[in-house]
Amino acid sequence: MSRILIIEDEKSIAELEKDYLELSGFEVEVEQDGQKGLVKALKENFDLFILDLMLPGMDGFEICRQIRDEKNTPIIMVSAKKDDIDKIRGLGLGADDYMTKPFSPSELVARVKAHLARYERLIGSAVEENKVIEIRGLKIDTTARRVWVNGVEKTFTTKEFDLLTFLASHPNHVYTKDELFSEIWDMESIGDIATVTVHIKKIREKIEYDTSNPQYIETIWGVGYRFKV
Ligand code: CA
Repeated sequence: MSRILIIEDEKSIAELEKDYLELSGFEVEVEQDGQKGLVKALKENFDLFILDLMLPGMDGFEICRQIRDEKNTPIIMVSAKKDDIDKIRGLGLGADDYMTKPFSPSELVARVKAHLARYERLIGSAVEENKVIEIRGLKIDTTARRVWVNGVEKTFTTKEFDLLTFLASHPNHVYTKDELFSEIWDMESIGDIATVTVHIKKIREKIEYDTSNPQYIETIWGVGYRFKV
């Protein structure tokens, strides 16, 4: 359930807004003092703020500015004067919407719903999904660095994982052992192209059903390796 904080000193207006929003299924709290409202807004988790401009304690301009310093939560500012709305816009305080009193409560509810939906989409798209490569029965979560073969998780060393992921990220591309070595091992590494051969062998033992007839990492004789898709 979405939680809304109304910061409004006119009790009748605050009650009306609260009633309509509660009827629409929102959890609503009201604070009449500006200073107390700001403290509550910053300390608790709300999904949206309805903020009056002229308030005892601290005005809506300052409250809006301070909330924006810390939170991206939608803010709808309300004022009795049309001029104030122009002023709010001019100041660029970061409020999401502005309403002039008196407004119809159903208009307020509609705007609240629209802003909540927009904000949820915004948050949803900000959550980055893990990058996963899936080829036949092989699944590589490159973000979590985990590998599954036909649903069974397999453990890989860092370099085995890097090598497998590199090849699987460039399917059907043939790489020489030299290229793979310089790609996966840094310059200071002790080792040579034989290291690549050893790692390919270990990877195959974990992902291939039959290592003498590999389905994923193919040997291109005299050249190197290729990840088949
Ligand atoms: Ca007021």
